[in-house]
Amino acid sequence: MHDVIIIGAGLAGATAALELAKSNRRVTVIEARDRIGGRGYARHFAVAGELLDFGGAWITPWQHRMRALCAEHGIALRPRTPIVERRWFRDGALHRDGPTSAVDRAAHEHAVARIAADAMLLKAGKARDEHGRDIAAVSLADYLVRIGAPLSTCDLLSAWWAVSGNAEKRRAPAAELLSSSAYSDGLTEGMADVWVETLVGGVTALATRMLEDSGASLQLTHPVETIIVNDDGVGITTEDGRLWRSRAAILATGLNPLRAIRFDPPLPQPKADAIEAGHLGRAVKVWVKARNVPVGVLATGGRSEIEWMFSERLAEDGGAALLVGFGVADEGWSPRMPADAVAATKRFFPEAEVVSVDWHDWNDDPFARGAWVATNLDAPEATVAATWRRHGPLAFASSDFAPDQAGWFEGAVTSGEAAAAEILSFLGRN
Ligand SMILES: Cc1cc2nc3c(=O)[nH]c(=O)nc-3n(C[C@H](O)[C@H](O)[C@H](O)COP(=O)(O)OP(=O)(O)OC[C@H]3O[C@@H](n4cnc5c(N)ncnc54)[C@H](O)[C@@H]3O)c2cc1C
Repeated sequence: MHDVIIIGAGLAGATAALELAKSNRRVTVIEARDRIGGRGYARHFAVAGELLDFGGAWITPWQHRMRALCAEHGIALRPRTPIVERRWFRDGALHRDGPTSAVDRAAHEHAVARIAADAMLLKAGKARDEHGRDIAAVSLADYLVRIGAPLSTCDLLSAWWAVSGNAEKRRAPAAELLSSSAYSDGLTEGMADVWVETLVGGVTALATRMLEDSGASLQLTHPVETIIVNDDGVGITTEDGRLWRSRAAILATGLNPLRAIRFDPPLPQPKADAIEAGHLGRAVKVWVKARNVPVGVLATGGRSEIEWMFSERLAEDGGAALLVGFGVADEGWSPRMPADAVAATKRFFPEAEVVSVDWHDWNDDPFARGAWVATNLDAPEATVAATWRRHGPLAFASSDFAPDQAGWFEGAVTSGEAAAAEILSFLGRN
């Protein structure tokens, strides 16, 4: 009998384990995969190359808990390469002189100004603009029509959507783009300015150290299948048929993987509905190693497939650059790698000679079932923290429904802390 079983060794689970260790609880962490870190995943490019982040990577100045954890656990931060050049693929060709043509300039500037105003209104807690129009729950597709964005502006915004909203444009709120634009005074193209650092060794290194320091027993390659709650506590079965028992449990699997777990008795309706709706995040992140590409170039456009690409750093051998690309696997695009990554590289960097491509398919990964959280407009409460409050001996932790900075590493940390506090108070009373 364990005090607490934590399901999932991502950042939320690792944080919860550390918090429980401070109160001397006996904790076991059960993880489906053969590795720690979940959607924070650093591994070698093409098996033997540079250590790169295939999942989450960048941290902002206000990921305060993340920064404190990195300092506590000896994880160094590496500054992100500055952006020194921009390129835009629009009107069927690559441009280096701006995101729009002279013909579209006035409409473009009008749309950009509207976005900036709405981003700042949203940041101030307003759900409507000065004309009473909804800015919190309108889909990105409807919003683009409303602001009269010309096609070249749509190309630009679609690319930045791939690194913010990351979902089908008709089903996810424009607020995902607006709130990320608000980081840079409402300027969508400034969104990347706050992604200031990455973790050396990635979240893989951080979560590994956190779990080691927590002293929790770690059980890898044990996908959880069933959670049974009765008067004796919690029973958990894993794919290999084992039964694990504890007084309480923290489910730190993320929202979409909960679909694969059976609850006996079933969870109450709001949680069951939330699991069925899930979140819509469908980002594709890919790394390309290519020669003849200068470092620090950010290119956007194309309106589908890989729409956003940044030549982030030189490869260790110095002769090639490492480019990171993003797109959204939706609205008719199913990624074909390496072909789609090569095509995008050629579109943005015609001078490039691609050496190799590597990626992790988060959408097809049974223990992620998507990328970072994107709210489903048909079921917004699915990703609201209040839906995921403790239920008896079960608490829930994930960046997907964090009360603050959801979708970011910071959200995983704060939600892991909150779930641990809920379970400690439950154990204290029982
Ligand atoms: C491509 C990509 C880019 C991103 N970029 C950034 C970024 O730059 N900056 C940033 O701050 N955030 C970024 N994020 C988001 C960030 O990675 C996540 O918000 C965060 O890592 C989620 O942590 P979590 O602990 O909530 O969930 P996860 O990391 O998903 O952890 C859940 C764990 O539960 C395990 N699990 C699932 N099902 C089961 C089961 N049945 N049994 C046992 N274990 C199970 C999983 O294997 C996993 O280890 C990105 C995410 C992706 C995918």
